[in-house]
Amino acid sequence: MAEIKLQNISKRWGSFVGVANFDLTIKDREFLVLLGPSGCGKTTTMRMIAGLEEATEGDILIDGKRVNDLDPKDRDVAMVFQSYALYPNMNVYENIRFPLKVRKSDVATHDARVRRAAEMVELTDFLHRRPAELSGGQRQRVALARAIVREPNVFLMDEPLSNLDAKLRVSTRAQIKNLSHELKVTTIYVTHDQIEAMTLADRVVVMNKGIVQQMGTPTDIYDNPANTFVASFIGSPAMNLMMGHLENGTFTAQHVTITGLPASVGGPVTLGFRAEDAEIADQGQLNAPIYSLELLGDATMVTVKVDGNLVSVKAPKDFRADIGAPFMAAIPPSICHLFDSTTGTRI
Ligand code: ATP
Repeated sequence: MAEIKLQNISKRWGSFVGVANFDLTIKDREFLVLLGPSGCGKTTTMRMIAGLEEATEGDILIDGKRVNDLDPKDRDVAMVFQSYALYPNMNVYENIRFPLKVRKSDVATHDARVRRAAEMVELTDFLHRRPAELSGGQRQRVALARAIVREPNVFLMDEPLSNLDAKLRVSTRAQIKNLSHELKVTTIYVTHDQIEAMTLADRVVVMNKGIVQQMGTPTDIYDNPANTFVASFIGSPAMNLMMGHLENGTFTAQHVTITGLPASVGGPVTLGFRAEDAEIADQGQLNAPIYSLELLGDATMVTVKVDGNLVSVKAPKDFRADIGAPFMAAIPPSICHLFDSTTGTRI
């Protein structure tokens, strides 16, 4: 059982704010992903939970107990980093066993625990190899097994897939998902990759410049982004955003007229919609020359320019047209998201 509470946590270096007033409860056995661009404060947050960085302000509680002053080794958390940090002179077996040795746990149980962890990450056949004789994905699995073997209360994973190539990243991601299901240990996972966040998380926290932008399930965040930052960070491609004018329920921008929107809002707004929610149409709210056409295999992505910004619509896979040809798409009000044009906040 491990519930983690961050109460008004901040981290400052001089006048620079790395993390600002972060409040969060991570439920027992929850898989929580901290997501955001480089420098947003996600690693710092994780390092404060691990005890590798001191919080300037606020309390960190694990199962109701304040741990701010506890050493990392006394917090019962296991970390997996993007650099595997394996011991080059030890073989896989010894690398996995290492945390058990330093913790002076019951030696009689070591062999069974090491073998069980190795089996979970499918490394049983590699126990005698040294790290130099392994692929990147296998090394990352040794690092995972080394965290698993400790049977910690909390897993902290910092971009564990970022050194792997695209294909290996997908298969290792599936393995982490499966492991988390089997182990049911509270996990905090840091990434800048929104697909990793969406596929792995029970709940996602989106951060930018040290400030939490939104917390919610992957579906919440995808369906109802709290602001334009989240809208433009989540989804592949990200949500289309257009600056325009809304009056009496009608939005207008270059090449776009959408009626039937809420009449209660007026003035300059940012309107968003997802490429996969729109459809090509003979008569549509969007009417613009084609800027580019990308074949994705299962679909064709058609991109136009609205006031200089790229706007994409996912068309059927057999859709073909010339660059510069007129293109029309249906953007009904039901798929539209409205944001304040100044603050970016959802309206
Ligand atoms: P990345 O994905 O690049 O690792 P991140 O979101 O994990 O980014 P952090 O490592 O948490 O970002 O850093 C947050 C901010 O704090 C960054 O702007 C970083 O430059 C700054 N920072 C981190 N460590 C220190 C330090 N020791 N002294 C001063 N500033 C720091």
